[in-house]
Order: sequence, then C-alpha cells, then structure tokens
Amino acid sequence: MRAVVTGGAGFVGSHLSDRLLEAGWEVLCLDNLATGSEANVAHLRRDSRFEMTRCDVTRPFSVAGAVGAVLHLASPASPVDYLRLPIETLEVGSLGTRNTLELAREKGAKYLLASTSECYGDPEVSPQSETYWGHVNPIGPRSVYDEAKRFSEALTMAYHRARGVDTRIARIFNTYGPRMRLGDGRVLPNFVHQALTGQPLSVYGDGRQTRSFCYVSDLVEGLYRLLGSSHHEPVNLGNPREMTILEFADKVIECTGSKAGMRFLPLPVDDPRRRRPDIAKAKQLLGWEPRVTLEEGLPKTVDFFRGLAQAARG
Ligand code: NAD
Ligand code: UDP
Repeated sequence: MRAVVTGGAGFVGSHLSDRLLEAGWEVLCLDNLATGSEANVAHLRRDSRFEMTRCDVTRPFSVAGAVGAVLHLASPASPVDYLRLPIETLEVGSLGTRNTLELAREKGAKYLLASTSECYGDPEVSPQSETYWGHVNPIGPRSVYDEAKRFSEALTMAYHRARGVDTRIARIFNTYGPRMRLGDGRVLPNFVHQALTGQPLSVYGDGRQTRSFCYVSDLVEGLYRLLGSSHHEPVNLGNPREMTILEFADKVIECTGSKAGMRFLPLPVDDPRRRRPDIAKAKQLLGWEPRVTLEEGLPKTVDFFRGLAQAARG
C-alpha cells in the first residue's frame, strides 16, 4: 500500500496525496517543484506515511522498496507554464512517462496517467466523449502539451499491451480549487486575484469560448476510483456544466463583490472554442459524478486566495 505520486507537490497531486493517505496508503511524492510548491504538502510533513523527494522524473531515478501504485501527474498544466517550459513539458510527457511506466513494470504496480481534455484539442464535437480522436494542431504553441499528453497516452497503452503493465488513463477537464498557484495564468487564479485586488478581469477574446469547471475534491474522488478499477482505456473526469468565460467572470464578480469590471485581451493561439466532458463512461464504470457545484466550490477557492493575500500582507 505504497503509492508513488509524481507531481505530488502540485495542485491536483497534493490533494490526491491527501486522499491516498486518508485511504491508508503511504505516499512517496516525487517532484522537481517546476510549477509546484512545498507549501502544498507542508501539512503532510508531520505524517510519517508521507515522504517527498525532490526529483526530476525525466532523468533516470530509482525507488527502493515495494510500490503498489504509480500515479503520474508530473507536468506543467497551465498554458502559461507549458508555454514557458515547452521542452520540459514534452520531456515530462515522453521521458517522464516512460520512466514512470518502467517503475510500475519493475515493481508490478498499478499505473495511472493524468492525461487531459486537451487531447481533444479544439474539438469539433461537443460534448467530448472518449471515442472522439480530437482536433489538435500538432505544431502550434499548445502542441507541446497536447502532443506530449497524446504521446503519454499512446505509450501507456503500449506498455499495457506489450509489457502487461496494469494501466489507467484519466482525461482530466478544467479543475479548480485551493492550492492553485497565484500567477499560474489559468483563468481562475487570474480572475480571482484580479477581483481581490480591484483590477478588471482579463477576458481573452470575446469571452464566448466555453469551459466546464470541476472542483478538485470531485476530481480526486474520480482519480481514486479509477485507480481501483481495471479499465485500461481513457476515462473523462470533469464537470459537465458548461459555461462561457463571460459567465464565469460574472460568477467571480458575484462571489467577490468586485466593482472593477472586465477588460478584453487577445485570444491565445489555438485556444479551444468549447470544452465539455461526456462523463457517461465514468458514471457507468466508477459510479462517479461531480457533487460540488460552482456556487459551493468558488467561495472556498476565493477564501483560499484571500488567505494567501492576507499572509503576504503579514
Ligand atoms: P501543477 O502545475 O500544479 O502540478 C504539476 C506538478 O508536477 C508540479 O508540482 C510540478 O513541480 C511537477 N513537475 C513538473 N515537471 C516535473 C518533472 N519533470 N519531474 C517532477 N515533477 C515535475 O498542475 P496540476 O493542475 O496539479 O496538474 C497535475 C496533472 O493533472 C498534470 O499532469 C496535468 O496535465 C493534469 N491535468 C490537470 C488539469 C487541471 O485543470 N488542473 C486538467 C487536465 C490535466
Ligand atoms: N482565459 C481568460 N482570461 C485569463 C485566463 C484565461 O479569458 O486571464 C480564458 C482562456 O483563453 C481559455 C479559458 O479562459 O479560453 C480557460 O483558460 P485556462 O488557461 O484556465 O485553461 P485552458 O482550458 O485553456 O487550458
């Protein structure tokens, strides 16, 4: 019952580590802190079942002792981060995925890959189900992330088929919650930070592009259930409630009481026009669906960012 969580000091990885510990696992977190932070796991330092090693999983590494599960979450995930770290992102999706699959093979451990809805690119069908092959620009700026994750999925399936590794693939849709990094450039930290500091919200394009936001505890429950299943093909995990970015901005304004309004900035290249998960498979296979509404999750996340701002002011 010892799990290796790569990217365990990141936003999702730290919550997943909490969930695994709660379920009785020991957790070894491997993280190079490229986009994560020790603060995300500071509360686990006193738990003797939790260990963190600073490690770049694109480089060869070894883990002593038994391992029951390898969960590969290490990767920059925010567009601003992966555009800043393009080669690192391709390497953690390729070399990092290979190294972690090898670890799972060596230890006879279960393997879970954190993949992404970005595999669907700028989708031509909506909602996106797992059978859709996607619409990805293979050489655009976002390709460093999209193609890395598509390669990760292909490698994971190959290790399952050719090497018998017991693998799973989660296609994660936009997830939010406490421990997102202020300044990671994703829409929620940007909007909440702007709202709390009296700046207008930075809406890209006309704001009519859509996303579907899942609260982190829901996502983590889905990942945990997927780890317990023996389904090898990709499974979407996300919240099917779709909204435009303008609607999302209104929700942030309503939740924070901001009076600063919005300003419109250029849409990033290849920004997907819409995104909404079809979660029929996760419902049927895992008995899973999101429970936390945006009206519940957003105030908790705003409180977290308020706390950060207060701590910064001392
Ligand atoms: P994050 O940036 O908060 O966490 C990623 C973690 O990986 C960080 O702690 C970072 O330091 C670590 N990392 C990066 N490169 C590494 C390397 N070479 N070696 C070791 N550690 C490394 O991002 P997140 O939102 O927590 O995302 C976690 C995973 O979930 C990622 O694989 C991401 O692609 C996937 N995902 C997240 C979302 C989302 O909305 N949060 C959506 C789709 C997919
Ligand atoms: N976005 C925005 N303002 C911001 C940051 C993002 O309007 O300050 C938009 C972005 O163009 C995209 C959506 O919000 O359409 C979600 O962006 P994010 O970077 O959070 O994640 P993505 O789904 O693009 O990976």
